[in-house]
Amino acid sequence: MKMIYKPQEYRIKDERMKPFIDESEIWEILDSAEPTKENVRAVIQKSLAKNRLSLQETALLLKTEDPELIEEIKAGARTLKENVYGDRIVIFAPLYVGNKCVNNCTYCGFRASNKKQKRTTLNEIQLRSEVKSLEDNGQKRLILVYGEHPMYDADFIADSVRTVYSVKSGSGEIRRVNINAAPLDIDGYKKVKDAGIGTYQIFQETYHREAYAKYHLSGQKSNFDWRLTGLDRAQEALIDDVGIGALFGLYDWKYEVLGLLRHVNHFEACYNVGPHTISFPRIKAASDSTIDPKFEVNDADFIRLVAILRLAVPYTGLILTARETKELREEVIKLGVSQIDAGTNIQLGGYSEESREEQQLDHEQFEIGDTRSLGEVIDELLDKQYLPSFCTACYRKGRTGEHFMEFSVPGFIKRFCTQNAILTLAEYLEDYATPDQKTKGYKLIDLKVGELNEKDSLKVAPLLERLEKVKQGERDLYF
Ligand code: SAM
Ligand code: SF4
Repeated sequence: MKMIYKPQEYRIKDERMKPFIDESEIWEILDSAEPTKENVRAVIQKSLAKNRLSLQETALLLKTEDPELIEEIKAGARTLKENVYGDRIVIFAPLYVGNKCVNNCTYCGFRASNKKQKRTTLNEIQLRSEVKSLEDNGQKRLILVYGEHPMYDADFIADSVRTVYSVKSGSGEIRRVNINAAPLDIDGYKKVKDAGIGTYQIFQETYHREAYAKYHLSGQKSNFDWRLTGLDRAQEALIDDVGIGALFGLYDWKYEVLGLLRHVNHFEACYNVGPHTISFPRIKAASDSTIDPKFEVNDADFIRLVAILRLAVPYTGLILTARETKELREEVIKLGVSQIDAGTNIQLGGYSEESREEQQLDHEQFEIGDTRSLGEVIDELLDKQYLPSFCTACYRKGRTGEHFMEFSVPGFIKRFCTQNAILTLAEYLEDYATPDQKTKGYKLIDLKVGELNEKDSLKVAPLLERLEKVKQGERDLYF
């Protein structure tokens, strides 16, 4: 049966859902910022004291072109990351469920007009097989990704979430399922919330209406305001754990950073809680895509923008994906990234395949830059003394949204996260690591336990007790 696609109308029912982006206001803030050594250093210090920056303060960092000050901004971001997040990096994997799409986003391989794209929607058996492969690799956290299509409605998304949670392989299980899909209406969000999702992610792509219209030619997504208020409707449905993002390369990158901050401010003002995460994907090559190269963000500017975001929102998680190369990821992780994907395969059904030589862009959304396996990424993190973490404790203990903010100020992340990172890393080492990696991993755990002992010996006894239980075969222990 042919499905008839009926776009949602956008109606303002509530003051809070009024579109909140004013392009001229953002440009005025950028244009009037006049950075000096004194004011830029004062802004960095404000952030190092773990205070959120205003749009005006962030604009000073964005307008800074003095190489010495740019280095100070990056150094500030590195220090802040260490102070707030410690050395843990949360690991997840994306799982593409379906690539049918009614929209025409000119940069995306899935767009409706791309006839070269092979369209696939995983059926339940295929989805289970993908999840089993991911679990057998050691993954615990997934983000499910969908094109926008009437077939992928809220019931479909909720069903796929339930299926994912129900797959168990050995001691493997998925403990947190996040979503990256089209904006829903309030009833739709309620359905996916009931299925037990973690974060609902929607990227605005660009916060500039005119640029948005140029890249989003048709379909529901061409409605800027429906998308902009998408996560407000999620809040109305009591999903308080949301992720925002901008696709860098569509419009001026400095403008987009302020757009993201304006979005954060809107959430804090209306719901008393900011977004859980910010993503900052850069445009990559895609099947049959067209992009104006005018706003391409080079590596040096990309690194700068991540450092500035880190300073601007000290307590918001920053997600860096495998769109970027291994080398660039290593550089950017130091500046304040808290989550990365690893072992990424964005081909529909790709995790269940035995091996894959190279990407097939006509069956994937875009080209990825980091094709390493999960084991390789973990090895690299261990070598650099980062603690790879598969932790899902906060969301399962109800520490989300406003409650998460209460805990997150100050030092909360370090209080729980290091211990939980150690416990989930130990699970990974016991169940999935090679003997060499296991030795390397436990060496790092010993080092981190020693550091904790120096800072707060009271915390160490309960941690060691749980660590021993993990070694004896108990799973899913957390603080
Ligand atoms: N279809 C839904 C949507 O558009 O919101 C789900 C997400 S889409 C599959 C995931 C994200 O990928 C988009 O929000 C966009 O930011 C990003 N994306 C699309 N094309 C891209 C490209 N060529 N390079 C990098 N990222 C891209
Ligand atoms: Fe469809 Fe999302 Fe791609 Fe746009 S970005 S064409 S909505 S899958």
